[in-house]
Amino acid sequence: MIHLIEPIKIAVIDNVAYNISEVNEKLFGGFCECGGKMLQKFWLNMEELRVLFSECEKCWKNHAYFFNSTKFLRKEEVRLIEKGEILDFLKNYLTDLEIEALVNKAQNKLYKPQDLARAKKKLLDMNFPFEDLVSLLK
Ligand SMILES: [Zn+2]
Repeated sequence: MIHLIEPIKIAVIDNVAYNISEVNEKLFGGFCECGGKMLQKFWLNMEELRVLFSECEKCWKNHAYFFNSTKFLRKEEVRLIEKGEILDFLKNYLTDLEIEALVNKAQNKLYKPQDLARAKKKLLDMNFPFEDLVSLLK
């Protein structure tokens, strides 16, 4: 499962966070199972791989389309993480104490530096933009 955190333009694939670039024009992005037309939303460009994220105009489902340099490889479902779901999502990776430190830091409250340091290391190891993530928790 691929996760998309739109407010900070991050896609999480196999527990690694990637920066994605927004598509500002209305470009065709495939057809949905519901019969609706999909619009391109984000692209992720890696050396050997490009991933297109599209959203259905009708049912709002998101899909990721994987391409290599020459051809389409596969399609995967995407789950959107809304701002209010960030904490639940982070529970997959961080302990309760680490999350508490993260939230307290974001809200300018007291936190245990060692808990925050552990949270930060884990998130940076997964390539998350730490400061952007903290700003989402304000
Ligand atoms: Zn649809």
